[in-house]
Amino acid sequence: MSIIIDGKAISKRIRESIKRKVDECKMNGLIPNLSVVLVGEDPASKVYARNKQKACKEVGIKSTVVKLEENTSEQELLEIIYRLNQDNTIHGILVQLPLPNHIDEKRIINAIDLSKDVDGFHPMHSGMLMNGQAILEPCTPKGIIRLIEETKQNIEGKNAVVIGRSNIVGKPVAIMLLQKNATVTIAHSRTENLAKLASTADILVVAIGKPRFIDRNYVKEGAIVIDVGITSVNGALVGDVDFDDVKEKAGYITPVPGGVGPMTITMLLENTLIAAKGAI
Ligand code: NAD
Repeated sequence: MSIIIDGKAISKRIRESIKRKVDECKMNGLIPNLSVVLVGEDPASKVYARNKQKACKEVGIKSTVVKLEENTSEQELLEIIYRLNQDNTIHGILVQLPLPNHIDEKRIINAIDLSKDVDGFHPMHSGMLMNGQAILEPCTPKGIIRLIEETKQNIEGKNAVVIGRSNIVGKPVAIMLLQKNATVTIAHSRTENLAKLASTADILVVAIGKPRFIDRNYVKEGAIVIDVGITSVNGALVGDVDFDDVKEKAGYITPVPGGVGPMTITMLLENTLIAAKGAI
């Protein structure tokens, strides 16, 4: 039976510490402030934006959701970003993705002031991460590393397999594991013999968006299994890992919900605090 890595409890602890630091900032006249930009009516995006606002409130970070119509043009959105960039009272800017199809996401992300890009998606942040100079790291990968560290198992020298190569999860988490001296393999939809490869992993990170895709055949006995996937199936959130099938074989496993999800928001709070302190 594996040990469950309780992302919710770990997040709670980290958020308490963030709250104390936010209180200190406030005593020095600094109110950390996050602006969340939400375009359109996507129900999931609305929930994510609301959850982020709720989490900010919990730790004392000021937050505002800038709500824009679905038919907002790319130029209008860019102008809003430029305005937020120039507003000295705002320390973090987050554009809730996905954006409507008529807007080029890359152009929008690239327009966010580097020092306010608390999602860490700007290509400059990716480059700095690659060079080992990261300051604002992307939230989900940052949270994944914290969860792995919570197991107190050594990362150094371990075989890590990351399934998924997106710019926001797979690639950055692979780089972070490499920087912690794991031997890292990135697998993806064209990888051959995936189960054979995955079952060599001491640390298996799965970010593919395919509900319950990973069963015990993909898992090494005693491995640390981090399930990043979230898919809504009949109204319930389901991970990429078949938790019930894998839990007897893995050494450590994150649940869905209650694993990576809460940590992503917690790392957003941490990044907003870093940005507010002007550490970058
Ligand atoms: P994405 O669609 O951008 O990338 C998916 C990746 O999975 C691709 O690189 C693809 O090659 C790979 N893939 C797809 N099918 C595969 C297969 N059968 N075998 C091997 N590889 C396969 O997705 P993403 O943005 O990286 O997100 C992945 C999942 O993580 C989604 O379910 C998403 O909702 C979830 N997610 C969760 C959080 C969180 O905070 N918990 C944050 C980001 C993403």
